[in-house]
Amino acid sequence: MAAVSYDYADETVIVTGGSSGIGRAVARRFGAAGATVVVADVRDEPKRDGAPTHEAIREAGGHATFVETDVSDPGEVRSVVEAAREFGGVDVMVNNAGIYRGAPLLDADAETFDRVYGVNVRGVFAGMQAAARDMLDRGEPGSIVNTASISSELAQPGHAMYDASKGAIMMLTRVAALELAEHGVRVNAVAPGPVDTDIGSGDTSESETDVIDVGKSAPMGRSASPEEVAGSYLFLASDDASYVTGHLLYVDGGYAVY
Ligand code: NAD
Repeated sequence: MAAVSYDYADETVIVTGGSSGIGRAVARRFGAAGATVVVADVRDEPKRDGAPTHEAIREAGGHATFVETDVSDPGEVRSVVEAAREFGGVDVMVNNAGIYRGAPLLDADAETFDRVYGVNVRGVFAGMQAAARDMLDRGEPGSIVNTASISSELAQPGHAMYDASKGAIMMLTRVAALELAEHGVRVNAVAPGPVDTDIGSGDTSESETDVIDVGKSAPMGRSASPEEVAGSYLFLASDDASYVTGHLLYVDGGYAVY
């Protein structure tokens, strides 16, 4: 099949949650396309083997840096956007950091709910707001791509906190797209199905974790690799998507068809 290449030279891309999983693949793909990549994560070590993402991008000849960031803290999110000014300012904001906590509604506790919402929802809210304000202040509108999920529209037992947070990301994406359209900022989301990552392990010291294992029930019968998902972020941020905004792009092996 045809290989697609993008040219992001002279563009600065922030990827939250860029140290592992989907974010790491997205960051590396932007780096390979010539972007200066700012990896914003609570940790720089990937959950799986390998060099930290920013080092891997540099080793491959690209430009990247790491800024320790907890996206649940809007002040830290503003700081990473400010840090990107050193490289000309953020052109593409990828709000991808997320955690998964599973529990039946009857057992779930408010503290865990708040943590899931703090990272998944407030993190995306803060990332969109900080990036959009900075783009408008500089007079250089760019593009925002969030990580939603099949869980944005598909309810699953035991997923109340996570599914609600991903539904919220869908609506944040849509409202932001409406509000920012007149300013030339496009806002979209990638909605992955099951992806082979270690989400649910090692994000925090919280003990109640679960692992999404739904790959076998996808129409394609398997999970995606992070690399299979990454290209959609580059497409949505690119000029090829210049008339696309407020869109959820499913990359899910057919899962959303159910
Ligand atoms: P992952 O755990 O491999 O990567 C998540 C990254 O986010 C990690 O590097 C982690 O350190 C970072 N992170 C966690 N909390 C953070 C915080 N407070 N501030 C900054 N960084 C933080 O998981 P993943 O599967 O790559 O998940 C990435 C995104 O994709 C998440 O939003 C997740 O909800 C979404 N998603 C994943 C799947 C899947 O099946 N893996 C499916 C749909 C959507």
